[in-house]
Amino acid sequence: MLKKDYDREYSRKYRKEHPEWKKESNRKWKEKYPDYWKEYWRKYHKKYPRKSRNRQAEKRIYYQRNKEYFLSKCREWRSKNREKSRHQVKSYKVRKKNAIGSHTLDEWETLKVKYGWTCPDCKKREPEIILTEDHIIPLSKGGLNNIENIQPLCRSCNSKKGDRII
Ligand SMILES: [Zn+2]
Repeated sequence: MLKKDYDREYSRKYRKEHPEWKKESNRKWKEKYPDYWKEYWRKYHKKYPRKSRNRQAEKRIYYQRNKEYFLSKCREWRSKNREKSRHQVKSYKVRKKNAIGSHTLDEWETLKVKYGWTCPDCKKREPEIILTEDHIIPLSKGGLNNIENIQPLCRSCNSKKGDRII
């Protein structure tokens, strides 16, 4: 082990075993130099306005600490915005497939109106069925994620269709 690594390992261990030491020294330091850190960060952000990595890490820590709160907020939002949330999930899955093109929730809503909220395959209407976005030419066969390549199908027709082109 290199000395540098050893030192780092040692101080990490020490901090872990003595969390109060760190707190205490921080407190003392702050009391002694109340403006030092303020000034330091002000200069730092001025010097590196684009370096937001620290802030991202802070956000992540903040999220981790308040995870339950955020999750409950998410759940609440999802139950109030079912359509939007479905669209987001779908868009995310499509993005993960590296699909080309995109469409908005509005375009999808307009398309459903155009189809009269009816599944073109089995002719059943919403709310008896729930219309899902089907790619006319499947993404796996090079189809785009643009609205022109989307048709509303109910869940059962969509899963029956699978990767075929109809
Ligand atoms: Zn159907």
